[in-house]
Amino acid sequence: MAKECPVCGDKIIGRVDKKFCSDYCRNAFNNQLNKDSKNLVRNINNRLRKNYRILEALNPNNKTKTTRTKLIAKGFDFQHFTSIYTTKAGTIYYFVYDQGYLPLENEFYALVKRNS
Ligand SMILES: [Zn+2]
Repeated sequence: MAKECPVCGDKIIGRVDKKFCSDYCRNAFNNQLNKDSKNLVRNINNRLRKNYRILEALNPNNKTKTTRTKLIAKGFDFQHFTSIYTTKAGTIYYFVYDQGYLPLENEFYALVKRNS
């Protein structure tokens, strides 16, 4: 029951714990992993940056209200934020860096800026 190299499919000859047929395939595999994780980080950073710009543009005076429709129209992505702040009363603010938003009733959102 010889294992197969996950990169090229060749049979792996040698130690039982060997995972690749050759140094070449091991390096190719690890380079691909690094590339994927770099892309993942880059994509999420881009989304966060976009979210930040949207919040900043909609909230020039550090406190305002907006609607879900407006946020979505600008391409806001509710899955990406950097931190959550829960008040003593249990209200949850979502932050993208120092720009925060709080879901209100009827699809309204309060926008706030955290004092630094
Ligand atoms: Zn191989």
